[in-house]
Amino acid sequence: MVVALKIEHEESAYSTAIAQYNRATQHLTIDENIIEYLRYPRREFTVNFPVRRDDGKIEMFTGYRVHHNTVLGPSKGGIRYSANVTLDEVRALAMWMTWKCALVNLPYGGAKGGVVVEPKDLSLREIEQLTRRYASELIPVISPHMDIPAPDMGTNAQTMAWFMDTYSMTVGYSVPAIVTGKPINIGGSKGRTEATGRGVIICMEEALRAHGYNDASKTSLIIQGFGNVGSHAAAYADELGFKIVGVSDIYGGIYNEKGLDIDSVRAHMAETGSLEGYKDAVHLTNDELLIMPCDVLIPAAMEGQLTKHNAPDIKARIIVEGANGPTTTEADDILEDRGIFVVPDILANAGGVIVSYFEWVQDLQAFFWDEDEIFHQLRRILIRSYDATLRAAEDHDVNMRMAAQIVAIQRVAEAVQTRGFYP
Ligand code: NAD
Repeated sequence: MVVALKIEHEESAYSTAIAQYNRATQHLTIDENIIEYLRYPRREFTVNFPVRRDDGKIEMFTGYRVHHNTVLGPSKGGIRYSANVTLDEVRALAMWMTWKCALVNLPYGGAKGGVVVEPKDLSLREIEQLTRRYASELIPVISPHMDIPAPDMGTNAQTMAWFMDTYSMTVGYSVPAIVTGKPINIGGSKGRTEATGRGVIICMEEALRAHGYNDASKTSLIIQGFGNVGSHAAAYADELGFKIVGVSDIYGGIYNEKGLDIDSVRAHMAETGSLEGYKDAVHLTNDELLIMPCDVLIPAAMEGQLTKHNAPDIKARIIVEGANGPTTTEADDILEDRGIFVVPDILANAGGVIVSYFEWVQDLQAFFWDEDEIFHQLRRILIRSYDATLRAAEDHDVNMRMAAQIVAIQRVAEAVQTRGFYP
């Protein structure tokens, strides 16, 4: 029997991605056939595979890998471990990766992967088994010249090490360039772990300058999510002297209008695994934190966090999207009406894929760069991309999200035009 009670669902990630695409293409004079072609993912894989649990029982897991587009080069994108992963979500994230890589001018297409699993419920051995089996299931569709995975929510450098080892043992020799975001001692790049968070702050500084904020110590930030992106964004912002008044993780948020001591927040997180019990701050729910007073809000947790329900109450004047797809289309409209400046995900969090690209280049050449070089090139590419987006926003009289999509879609469409449709 269908339960009569109907909960109002927020729009899905893929419908957000398609809605953004439809809006952006209205500003472009490109061939209708190309517009239609780019609406579709090129390939979608679903794999169901067994993992032996610690109690000896076999459990089946489902994983996905979607290649949205490969016109500009091999596809690139992270792998997410989460109980909520769906094919629809992975499809959206793959499409955003296509635009992100094109926007920052990397020779990549877009992909994304995910396994439906709550990593916290598995032991380290079980996670390793799951990763190795998922990697081996993907072998027909990944290679350093075809599709190059990386970490995302719920995965990390260790996950990538197991992934790389599984691929390497299968082909019979070491292939560091099969994944990025690896540990440095097996071909990872300096600066990769910090890259996304640092890039978010570089973009934030550009936005702040244009909006007349000149004193970091008087500029307050709230960061939602304290994982790879959020914690490194917090660390870099703290190093630059910004006042971080709020941070959160999946269990809730903390807020202190005078500014949080980020080193002690990090130490507390490292010690206890959550923000619970942290002193010197008011404890709030995630929903409450998003609408607390601040100059800049950085959603760095997951998609669909800024919705039509909370967008009217957000106090920040600038939003810099560390997460992928944190703002629904409806929220976007509300934020625009309210004059809130949004630096979109495909620009703001592109630091990760930029340094992933450096890692891949270093692996292919077996020649490694120092950290100064990496951070210098990261800043150069991000600022160039930020400026191109701002120019497009002015030229088309649109917001930064539309502008970023316009620049990216235009570049991919031109490449399709040049290559032509096969056969
Ligand atoms: P992570 O797993 O390291 O951290 C996620 C953080 O968000 C954790 O602190 C978790 O507790 C918190 N969180 C999860 N669900 C939440 C919720 N409902 N409310 C509040 N907090 C919640 O993941 P990450 O790698 O930092 O990725 C975060 C986001 O950034 C994702 O959208 C991801 O796709 C995007 N992203 C990551 C990278 C990267 O290099 N890691 C690059 C680009 C974009």
